[in-house]
Amino acid sequence: MSRPKALVTRPLFPAARAILDLNFDVEYWTQPERISRAELLRRVADKDAFVCLLTEKADEELLAAAPKLRIVSTVSVGYDNIDVPACTRRKVVATNTPGVLDETTADFAWTLLMAIARRLVEGDAWLRSGTWPGWDLDQLLGGDIWEKTLGIIGFGRIGREVARRALGFRMRVLYHSRSRVPVEIEKELHAEYVPLESLLREADFVTLHVPLSPETRHLISTPQFEKMKRTAYLINTARGPVVDEAALVDALERKLIAGAALDVYEHEPKVHPALIPRKDVILAPHLGSASIETRTKMAVMAATNAAALFEGKRPPNALNPEALGL
Ligand code: NAP
Repeated sequence: MSRPKALVTRPLFPAARAILDLNFDVEYWTQPERISRAELLRRVADKDAFVCLLTEKADEELLAAAPKLRIVSTVSVGYDNIDVPACTRRKVVATNTPGVLDETTADFAWTLLMAIARRLVEGDAWLRSGTWPGWDLDQLLGGDIWEKTLGIIGFGRIGREVARRALGFRMRVLYHSRSRVPVEIEKELHAEYVPLESLLREADFVTLHVPLSPETRHLISTPQFEKMKRTAYLINTARGPVVDEAALVDALERKLIAGAALDVYEHEPKVHPALIPRKDVILAPHLGSASIETRTKMAVMAATNAAALFEGKRPPNALNPEALGL
């Protein structure tokens, strides 16, 4: 019997390949450059499964180009690259990789928070320039982190792990999310639910952990920057378009906030050119979940989701189980 065919847009990791190779005739895209859209549409045409990264869009056009497709499995928790309603209409299951990257991404949000508050990247650049004259009392003074107020927007899996880490810094933790979490979780994490406006006014650090959706696009723009403390920092490890990048540039120029540390960009991989020379900004190249352990788990999870469907099981992380007729 012929096996189902899968297109995978990266070679992934051996543990994930082992699952895929056992279940599919797999075509891996192995070139160092990203697969072009035209090549993607051509190669996906005869496939039953598509394992993709957040950089590939599974939209109407792709679904129309792949009439046999039964599953789109993204190696990411964010699934704004997939048109889930379009998948459902065509009975294509969409899956993501929730849970396995919470700790690693929360660690990275903290990496950025600490680095911007303590001016680490600026200091590193100074030292490497060969012009650092040695220790002095008033050099590169940053802001304290401990006992400050942390504002978390989006209190899901990652947002809560960010809050857990704040306990060690004896911070006051405010959160705003679509829905309030059970009171036991608030108590465990010493987190207080507040309206978005209060969070923006009170937080010394505002960190974003919402998914990208029509409701969260430009959630942080000029009116929000105007409410923030002049000494506050913005940290974005969610998705670039959650922040209006031009408004961020304007806010920094007007000194509405003290700085920003970004992992994601509105027009990735492009970054607003006015951010590049700024010392009050840290720019990371989308590293949130980038540990070898976590990326391996994500790839294995994506492979397992794809394989499950062809073993007659419900993929563990189906975003639209209704596509299975359940
Ligand atoms: P999650 O568990 O679904 O949490 C998202 C939270 O945001 C939920 O509490 C959700 O509320 C809330 N939310 C949704 N829409 C909102 C809105 N309009 N206003 C306020 N709150 C809203 O997701 P997660 O696993 O923590 O991941 C969050 C996002 O982080 C992902 O979607 C992804 O884009 C991003 N991410 C980035 C990286 C990176 O490499 N930088 C790594 C991992 C994840 P409900 O509970 O009501 O749904």
